[in-house]
Amino acid sequence: MLWPHLLPTLKAPRIALARASKSLVPPVLDDGQAVTSDNLSSEPDDTPGEHTAGKNHPLPLADIDTEALKVVRKLLAANHEAYLVGGCVRDLYLNRKPKDFDVATSARPEQIRRVFRNSRIIGRRFKLAHVFFGSKIIETATFRSVPNEDAPNEGESDDDDLLITHDNEWGNIEQDARRRDFTINGLFYDIEHEEIVDFVDGVADLDRGVVRTIGDPEVRFREDPVRMIRAIKFAARLDFTIESDSWAALLACAPDIARCSRARLVEELYKLLRGGAAKRAFELMLEANLFQHIWPAYMELYDDVGGLRRPSRAQPSDQPGSLFWRYLGALDDYVIETGHVPSNGVIQAILFAPLLDQLLLEANRAELDVRVDDLMTPPCGALGVARRDRELARQIFMAHRRMIQPSRKRGRKASLVQRQYFHDALLFLGFSVEARDLDGSALDQWRALAVVHNSKADGPDDDGGGGDRGGSGGQRKRKRSRRRGKSKSGPRSGGGRTGASRSASES
Ligand code: ATP
Ligand code: MG
Repeated sequence: MLWPHLLPTLKAPRIALARASKSLVPPVLDDGQAVTSDNLSSEPDDTPGEHTAGKNHPLPLADIDTEALKVVRKLLAANHEAYLVGGCVRDLYLNRKPKDFDVATSARPEQIRRVFRNSRIIGRRFKLAHVFFGSKIIETATFRSVPNEDAPNEGESDDDDLLITHDNEWGNIEQDARRRDFTINGLFYDIEHEEIVDFVDGVADLDRGVVRTIGDPEVRFREDPVRMIRAIKFAARLDFTIESDSWAALLACAPDIARCSRARLVEELYKLLRGGAAKRAFELMLEANLFQHIWPAYMELYDDVGGLRRPSRAQPSDQPGSLFWRYLGALDDYVIETGHVPSNGVIQAILFAPLLDQLLLEANRAELDVRVDDLMTPPCGALGVARRDRELARQIFMAHRRMIQPSRKRGRKASLVQRQYFHDALLFLGFSVEARDLDGSALDQWRALAVVHNSKADGPDDDGGGGDRGGSGGQRKRKRSRRRGKSKSGPRSGGGRTGASRSASES
């Protein structure tokens, strides 16, 4: 229970946390096989045009974001269809706190714009509306259909190529349900009748604890390979099973992941690592041979040091391949215990710390600097990790060295505490203490200094003197967003959507 003590000194953004999980079965059996739905009684009903209105599933209105309710009600009052949709319905049904609330409507973007003066149309290929309430945004999207299968994808000549490069057809509610990725994400909530509208048998899959693609899994994964990472993210986060056909397709399609834009891959990786189930998610990604195709350059770094496999007790605990899992375990504990998420720079530090091994603890300044650069530059370049995130990780490593070999000079300590990256470094020190079973006295000392510094520095416009805690932009980014005064709906999250992660096709 390291984190509750450390927390007051860290002002990291909060994420939505589970209140309870409807966990039924683990995603993968002990022998490494994905749990199948063989023993499940009913298969999804694909009959077109039918849906089960979930009369028995009223969701607690009090748990629904007030502004999201306002958006739905106003659209209804303007004679449009409007529903809550996707992850928020899934999470409310599972009695988890949604990260954000999305609205789907029959209204076209210009019509949405007319209903809400406080809105803006975004997206070039696929337009949707952002409705603003102070700093909160409710993303409001017009029903879309599955892209026309007969229409050739722009710039594609290969007949077998299913990759979606356009996704811009308006549709009705049922079509909108069917173009979504997984049955558990294809649900709408009708607030007037207080019922879930379910065209894809998503409620049954929520009850079973199953992640199942909507439609043919191989087609759906080839259309958008990022869905494979998402399948694993939801299975790990919700402690769900990946349904057997979806799992088989995932194994078959894993190499396709390399076709996705690097920006999306990086962002999906961050989301996965910040979700509170990073360890489980990475186990599944390695088992599916997916991560090997996402970041081969990172995997290669482990080749010379014993490899990166599923966690095993047989592996000596100080080996990089073992430290990796211990750092991820510490990260998950932190996210679950505190409801906060680390910045991208801290996440990069976590990913590379196991490979620095003892050097992180023992090297001198110059040695560590060179090693960090040699280690991180090629793989980060290959995946397109933002330079600022890599730089923050480097600063964290250098600060870590100072923090565990602290100078006796008071002034030098104070200067570190004042650094923008200090809070990230303090958080990372916490991860190291957990992962490497270090003596926690250095952490205690620095925490005490941080408390003193925070209390001195606390002023109306002060953010605690911390570093880059809200994602990858650091202070520059926070200032910018303060000027604009906007952020995504729901509890603030360092894992919040960014332009890179939130392509129009995902909404
Ligand atoms: P989270 O809790 O992580 O936000 P989410 O399900 O809300 O999970 P989002 O990325 O916020 O995921 O997307 C909102 C919804 O958009 C999803 O629930 C799903 O219906 C749809 N969606 C997102 N990404 C895709 C995709 N790649 N393909 C099809 N549908 C998608
Ligand atoms: Mg969401």
